[in-house]
Amino acid sequence: MAGLSGLPGPPGLPDYHVHTFRCGHAGGASREFVEAALARGLSEIAFTDHIPLYFLPAANRDPKLAMREEELDGYLEEVRGLQDAYRGRIPIRLGLEADYAEGHEEALSRWLARADWDLVLGSVHWVAGDWIDAPGSAARFPREGADHLYTEYYRLLAKAAATGFFDVLTHFDLPKKHGHRPDTALHDAEERAIAAARSAGCAVEISSAGLRKPVAEMYPEPRLLRRLVGAGVPVTFSSDAHAPAEVGWGYERTVPEARAAGVEEFVTIARRRKTAHPLPPP
Ligand SMILES: [Zn+2]
Ligand SMILES: [Zn+2]
Repeated sequence: MAGLSGLPGPPGLPDYHVHTFRCGHAGGASREFVEAALARGLSEIAFTDHIPLYFLPAANRDPKLAMREEELDGYLEEVRGLQDAYRGRIPIRLGLEADYAEGHEEALSRWLARADWDLVLGSVHWVAGDWIDAPGSAARFPREGADHLYTEYYRLLAKAAATGFFDVLTHFDLPKKHGHRPDTALHDAEERAIAAARSAGCAVEISSAGLRKPVAEMYPEPRLLRRLVGAGVPVTFSSDAHAPAEVGWGYERTVPEARAAGVEEFVTIARRRKTAHPLPPP
């Protein structure tokens, strides 16, 4: 976190990727996340906790990775309560970070039907039969090959976008998390994911979370962000906060980098409808 303060960031931007204690790896009361958003001058906050691991056998649904099925109702109730409590002070969006898992689309659509979401984030964390971003995943890269894992990841990301289930694609270049880069340029694989996002009308998040990981670089990296913007894919801003201090964290780096990559506007999303806004001036 060196050089990145916990002080107010540029005002007027949303944080559209925030977790709660239910996912098993986030801390702090949900109310504190909202207070942090207010303190930073953010325009909106969206709770987007991890969908239960519907695509894994029940015995493999690690409660340290996502909320349990029986926690969903409590999650909905809590976010709605916070919406009421903070009405007129800051809009709080009801969201979900939903895993895309190939072959499990029907189960996913049943989960997504369980609430009137403001926004659904589409994430590919499960690639070629295992997690791509868990602490133990780093060992997969030398074993299975970075090119193979990246190619498979982008294939799944494109498929996720094409389902139409998602409003925003998260951490677009997630396989880089532990610092592994592809051995060869993956221009075509990336291009298919970019094209799928554009066709589906999916936005992409500019996430500061990568700055907190070994790779120390925002998602997506500036080179990819430039291509996404060039293709007309809308963007929004997020931190993937797992603690109140991470809400709006790192925007003093991601916003200038976004501007340098050609971003001129961002979207907000309510009831699954996007509204474009100009990026605040520097
Ligand atoms: Zn994620
Ligand atoms: Zn997340």
